[in-house]
Amino acid sequence: MTDHVQTVVVGAGVIGTAIARALAQAGHEVLVLEAEDSGHHHTSARNSQVIHAGIYYAPGSLKARLCVEGRRMMYDFCATRHVDHLNCGKLIVATTEGQLAELQVLHDRGHANGVDDLHLISGEAATDLEPELRCLGALVSPSTGVVDAPGFMRALQGEAEAAGASFATHAPLRRATSDPKGWRLEIGDTDGTGLTCNNLVNAAGLGSWDVAAAMDDPGIAIPTRNHVKACYFSLGGAASPFERLIYPAPDAASLGVHSLRDIGGQVRFGPSVHFLDGAAIDYRNDVDPAPFATAIRRFWPGLPEDALVPDTCGIRPRITPPGAPLADFMIRGPADHGRTGLVHLFGMESPGLTSSMAIGAHVARLMA
Ligand SMILES: Cc1cc2nc3c(=O)[nH]c(=O)nc-3n(C[C@H](O)[C@H](O)[C@H](O)COP(=O)(O)OP(=O)(O)OC[C@H]3O[C@@H](n4cnc5c(N)ncnc54)[C@H](O)[C@@H]3O)c2cc1C
Repeated sequence: MTDHVQTVVVGAGVIGTAIARALAQAGHEVLVLEAEDSGHHHTSARNSQVIHAGIYYAPGSLKARLCVEGRRMMYDFCATRHVDHLNCGKLIVATTEGQLAELQVLHDRGHANGVDDLHLISGEAATDLEPELRCLGALVSPSTGVVDAPGFMRALQGEAEAAGASFATHAPLRRATSDPKGWRLEIGDTDGTGLTCNNLVNAAGLGSWDVAAAMDDPGIAIPTRNHVKACYFSLGGAASPFERLIYPAPDAASLGVHSLRDIGGQVRFGPSVHFLDGAAIDYRNDVDPAPFATAIRRFWPGLPEDALVPDTCGIRPRITPPGAPLADFMIRGPADHGRTGLVHLFGMESPGLTSSMAIGAHVARLMA
């Protein structure tokens, strides 16, 4: 490891990796510090692997803009780099009369966000498309898809490295002290004499609060920390009863229990929403399947009894408390805090995977 690097990115999840690629391609000398043996252990490896269209988010928000831009970049990248993905489409379904009006709201919001291929269909038309589905009406999102998220991350890392970026694993950032050059970093168990950098990007996901707290001058007020557990169930490797993704009308705290398929066609249902105590990281799937089965049967009455098998579990890094509406991505650069070369990313929950390449481009612009 050199003793001075121009730009350090903390975290090799999909967002840190996409940022490293964008910065390296913009001419930065980049070192990525990753605490684990790879970036495939936390949120980026424990999500729905959905390429979101950009429907749900407030028009003009970072989530809306970066999701729509990132989705286009991602489809293009996956097609040209041969990353497995499938533009399978999605139905957002109403199972009560009240939800029919919500579908119209989603349609209009998506349209305002630049998702111009949405259309509403009747319950009968939805069942024509998906014979196992029961609903009163649906919003069709043709541009939603699924991706092999680990393969996508590997391809991003390959291009970052080809542009000169280096990735150091087992390298947790412990402390960052202001230095005439920018920052002096203490990494792992070293004594802190090893590394200085000009620019620092905090893309540590669930660790972003700790990274900010480890800086003598983070430049910002560190936001509220919430870890929100999200568990999935499968049918033990069985194929999906649906070709498309099936989502219920969302509530304020989540997109609801939805039916996912991966690129191989296997089905998963989820995720749950459960606030953990403080900064806990607990990936055990200890969720009761009964409420899950009830939620799924609202749109798929054919779910067999006792069929749900516990599957993976992730944790959302959330900056709003229980009961509060979801917040926008919190990305803070020099224009926000006045420190050249410093960018923090907090609350990078969904649609962070879809948005990752656009986030990379956005951070490169903040650094320019
Ligand atoms: C249940 C769930 C489902 C989701 N589904 C979707 C979806 O379908 N589509 C979509 O677009 N988005 C989805 N998301 C959101 C998406 O997964 C995240 O936005 C994205 O993976 C976040 O990436 P990240 O790089 O910020 O975080 P992470 O993947 O958590 O990476 C952060 C990295 O930083 C490292 N780190 C932490 N602290 C330190 C330190 N001190 N020093 C060095 N390294 C450190 C960690 O080890 C980790 O590897 C979902 C999220 C969840 C929780």
